[in-house]
Amino acid sequence: MKITSAKFIKGIVGRDKVLEDGLPHIAIIGRSNVGKSSTINSLVKQKDLVRVSSFPGRTRQINIFLINKSFYLADLPGYGFSVGSKDDQLRLHELINWYLFLSGFEQKLVVLIIDAFIGPTDKDVEILRALEEHNKNIIIAANKIDKIKKSGYQNQMEKIRDMVGNHKVIPYSAKTKIGLEDMVKEIMT
Ligand code: GDP
Repeated sequence: MKITSAKFIKGIVGRDKVLEDGLPHIAIIGRSNVGKSSTINSLVKQKDLVRVSSFPGRTRQINIFLINKSFYLADLPGYGFSVGSKDDQLRLHELINWYLFLSGFEQKLVVLIIDAFIGPTDKDVEILRALEEHNKNIIIAANKIDKIKKSGYQNQMEKIRDMVGNHKVIPYSAKTKIGLEDMVKEIMT
């Protein structure tokens, strides 16, 4: 199982034909700075498919990528960073909310990326509960796992698993590619 092609299709801000052409969507969501862009780039093995930004929270739309000509990867704007005007933040919140919960569109899978080093924040748990309430098919990618020392690994993974409940957690590193195969398998099956 391999990702052999990835192409940016468009940014969407509302109802669009990529929601209606029958191809499944895999949505990727995470707070700004958890490494969402780096994770997507590592999955598709393209360094700059998604811009890795040193200014958190700059994505302003849902970026849609076509993978292997067979499914869409939807890169949702990072949430929970108070940059940009209040209006911008509200608009982003509404866009995510609409795409995930109000549009009636069913994603095949939602990948929630968290920072493995920091652990799940209140904001992460809040979004997780909302995804659960809407019966989404969820996996958690615990990114930046490379930052955790061997001695603390077990403890930190237990802490993460306790907080996220029954969902599959994939220890991941966009930097060192730990978990890459596991993650590709999850999104391709
Ligand atoms: P985004 O805002 O969630 O899209 O995050 P970015 O992909 O822009 O990454 C935010 C910062 O985290 C950057 O400085 C990245 O180099 C760093 N980063 C991302 N993934 C990893 C990882 O797996 N390990 C480490 N150590 N740093 C990472």
